[in-house]
Amino acid sequence: MLFLLGQDGLDALPVTSQHLISEFYPEPPPGRSYPQLKLKCKNLLMEEWDKAAPDPARYPYQPSLKPHPFMGLDKFTAGRLHQMRSGKSYLRAHPSWDSEVPTTCPSCLSAPETFEHAILQCPAKEPARTRLLQGIIDVAPDAPVWSSVALLGALARFIKSTATAYPPWNVLTPVVLYFLSFSPLI
Ligand SMILES: [Zn+2]
Repeated sequence: MLFLLGQDGLDALPVTSQHLISEFYPEPPPGRSYPQLKLKCKNLLMEEWDKAAPDPARYPYQPSLKPHPFMGLDKFTAGRLHQMRSGKSYLRAHPSWDSEVPTTCPSCLSAPETFEHAILQCPAKEPARTRLLQGIIDVAPDAPVWSSVALLGALARFIKSTATAYPPWNVLTPVVLYFLSFSPLI
């Protein structure tokens, strides 16, 4: 234990480590603690981000400073999800960066091939949905799937199994390889 001497050198006060800490690192004013300042910086950053590059109206998901949990999936599937969430993918209702005209789902020919249709509604994918997607009933921004590793794994298996939002060459490649497997060239 340390002691501080008074002016006359007679009275001594015990000095604990807490005294020293409060002497050199006084309590911050209200609202200025490290967690509070960190939160304030984060909010300012998000505000500036929103001003500088606002999300288009068609993108309902909130921006985040943390990587999306689905980024833990394989790179190709994470890319499909990024594209479908953005409304700019190989789905027929996402034909280009500036077209808003929906187009019919090539699998069932019954509705525009939107993200929700391709994952949740397409009747042509019902067997795969029943087998792989149990527990996933929504892909909205607040749906449980976006924060559940188990549900994201199920969604990834469904996307791979049905080749949902795959580029055309990826859909064709397994077929081409199948027929080439009978070729004398291989
Ligand atoms: Zn369909």
